[in-house]
Amino acid sequence: MTRTIPLDNSLIDEATEWRRYLHAHPETAFDEHRTADFVAAKLEEFGIEVHRGLGGTGVVGTLKRGTSPAAVGLRADMDALFIHEDNDVDYRSTVDGKMHACGHDGHMAMLLGAARHLARNGDFDGTVRFIFQPAEETGDERCGGNEMVKDGLFEKFPVQAVFGMHNFPGAPLGSFMLRPGPMLASIDTFEFHIGSELSHPHSQFYVADPLLIAASLVQDMHAFKARYVNPAEPVVLSITQFQSGNPADRQSVHVTPDKAVVRGTLYTLNDAIRGQFEAGLEKLVRNAAEASGATYKFIFERGYPVLRNAPQETEFATSVAEEVAGADKVSAAMQPVMGAEDFAFMLGKVPGCYVFLGSAREGEATPRQLHNPAYDFNDEALPVGIRYWATLAERYLSQASGRQ
Ligand SMILES: [Zn+2]
Ligand SMILES: [Zn+2]
Repeated sequence: MTRTIPLDNSLIDEATEWRRYLHAHPETAFDEHRTADFVAAKLEEFGIEVHRGLGGTGVVGTLKRGTSPAAVGLRADMDALFIHEDNDVDYRSTVDGKMHACGHDGHMAMLLGAARHLARNGDFDGTVRFIFQPAEETGDERCGGNEMVKDGLFEKFPVQAVFGMHNFPGAPLGSFMLRPGPMLASIDTFEFHIGSELSHPHSQFYVADPLLIAASLVQDMHAFKARYVNPAEPVVLSITQFQSGNPADRQSVHVTPDKAVVRGTLYTLNDAIRGQFEAGLEKLVRNAAEASGATYKFIFERGYPVLRNAPQETEFATSVAEEVAGADKVSAAMQPVMGAEDFAFMLGKVPGCYVFLGSAREGEATPRQLHNPAYDFNDEALPVGIRYWATLAERYLSQASGRQ
């Protein structure tokens, strides 16, 4: 049976207003000043203690009741994307070239909604931490999740578990998807440079051809993935940039390019596989360069780790989702998704669970995808997201005080 905590009528209307205000005023990674001002002002208005400036523009709200030492963290992300909005809505982005195309406006509104509910009507003994982080979208180690953790998030604001949520426009409205263990991939980027002396292609002197070496390495890297890595391990290797020669200068068609630069990305669900690629790709580049007398440089930059849900917290989050949405709307054993999330840095420090909240729009046969100029968070998902957060905090803290 689905039990839903009663939300007062004005809350959904207010949350919708907040969401649309945030949508109209998008700010990108580490630039979320106005956004953080808004979030902090709302939390203070609800009577929640606010700490600003953690990991850059991060905001942490602390709501404490009773005497229990138990504490739980709920996290939302605040950043928008460098995408120019296509939507014609009255809360359309007011900033050219920036928009909330990943629904983080909705994430903030849902967590603020839960904060207001818990501050006014919450029935719990313990501490709820509302974590609003900057810069989820950078894809590298300099991201809000990591910066907040490095800035002492869990030392200054200890919790026994931390939970995250992302809207998922491809799944039915109000459904939940999650899984224990690896749920989202690690992301790394790599690049290599092949270089040689400038020369004429018909030169009688042998010289390395960086373009040819690099082109062949693109094939070799895919062959490495196909033949030297355990095929049972999900890996997405993409080579996405290749630069050599100067197409703008037609005359230089007679010149062997003096360098080639190639970049790509790697997604995996296994840290050992990341190490295998880092070493293996470098070896391919080194061998090819040395065999041809070319120079080389190889750079492998680790981004987000694999996002791993802790078993116990996943079981708990599943029970909360079932309570809020009904068991038939919860998939607790979804396939992992080969995308990445910097919430993985928080889960690397404290056990917890990340869930997807289905947010499909009724009547739209093809869902508008995240990171798309036509994306717009579905406000119909706000009530279920608020209920999930509020129920999770109450149930977690009542279980925790029951355990003592
Ligand atoms: Zn995104
Ligand atoms: Zn996102």
